[in-house]
Amino acid sequence: CGIVGFVSNRRVKVDDLISGLKKLEYRGYDSAGLAYNVDHSIKYLKKPGRINEIEKILLNESLLEEGFYSGIAHTRWATHGVVSEQNSHPHLDCKEELAVVHNGIIENFQELRTELEIKGHIFKSETDSEVIAHLIEEKYNGDLFDSVLRTLKKLEGAYAIAVVHKDKPDQIVAARKGSPLVISSNENMSMLASDVTPLLKYSKEMNFLNDGEIAILTPKGYSIFNLDGVPIENKPIRITWDE
Ligand code: GLU
Repeated sequence: CGIVGFVSNRRVKVDDLISGLKKLEYRGYDSAGLAYNVDHSIKYLKKPGRINEIEKILLNESLLEEGFYSGIAHTRWATHGVVSEQNSHPHLDCKEELAVVHNGIIENFQELRTELEIKGHIFKSETDSEVIAHLIEEKYNGDLFDSVLRTLKKLEGAYAIAVVHKDKPDQIVAARKGSPLVISSNENMSMLASDVTPLLKYSKEMNFLNDGEIAILTPKGYSIFNLDGVPIENKPIRITWDE
């Protein structure tokens, strides 16, 4: 189980997400997937099996070289719901305007799902994670950070999440409680991952999010807040070892 994501003002290649995921392979996984913002829509691909399977499809469709501004990718270690395409991440909202990757377990997903279904949300998977996408959709009012922040207040359990939205090519919103998440930036982009290994190629300054922190990443850098929305001092650690 792992997460990686990039947001840049130059285009990042889909291949960079795949290389990032491969660095997280050692963590173990049963499915892989990715989503990215291109031409004001969210493109996504997800599959059970090895990262190679997804890579082959992307290669055949000439998508490995495709550039995007904000993108996220995931390896899944299934906890809720069988290993299947539908249950693989990313998970999207009903309108497929936003995509979420999640590591961890949302303990109160069943009650949240029931509430959302009553409001008309149609679920496509059996996972605990999909509620996050629908909650953000429910709360979205043009401000992605704010809608994720309000969503986090409803979640019980453990999570590292990353979210992209079709209307926000210059943003990834990420948060952590109980599952690891590292963020970093350089002169062209900001990035995140479950550990430093996918990021060392791009930067040596790493910021290990603490539990109960949420970050907004843009091509110019990132800001970290607590769950009351109060900014937290950004204290990156310099990693001295190489890739
Ligand atoms: N609980 C989620 C699922 O079963 C996330 C698992 C993970 O951490 O990869 O899809």
